[in-house]
Amino acid sequence: MTPQFAKSSSMNDPARCNYRVPNGMRCRLIGFGTQPFCPKHTQVAAPPQPDPAEIASTLTVNLDDFTSAAQINDFLSRLLLLLAQDKISTRRAAVLAYITNQLLRTLPAIAKEENAEPTKIIFDMPGPERDRPTADQAPPPEPTYADVRT
Ligand SMILES: [Zn+2]
Repeated sequence: MTPQFAKSSSMNDPARCNYRVPNGMRCRLIGFGTQPFCPKHTQVAAPPQPDPAEIASTLTVNLDDFTSAAQINDFLSRLLLLLAQDKISTRRAAVLAYITNQLLRTLPAIAKEENAEPTKIIFDMPGPERDRPTADQAPPPEPTYADVRT
């Protein structure tokens, strides 16, 4: 069915499209069947958005904290499934993946802090030998009998 233009004499025709352009004028096309709007202005019903609480529970069930790589991997797997099922927006999934990546990158630092021993300073460099006389202070060796003879 092709849209038909309404005659100008039928300004209040209820069969006309109910869409109003920004300047207040009414669309001149005839409504499509029993629809109040013409095919051009029929708003396609958006698919219902999943409940954010449901998404959050799906993502975080059995995950109390994200302090291990296994938990973060589990979270990312669930995130991938939700994205593949188109239950979560790509933008939101990207933000969650970024935050998860930051969490994952801090895990080695946390483990290093927890396993760190207190810093111990070891002085094993040999100190100066203060009791031994230096070369210029040492008395010249006594001449031996062989040195006196020559
Ligand atoms: Zn219209």
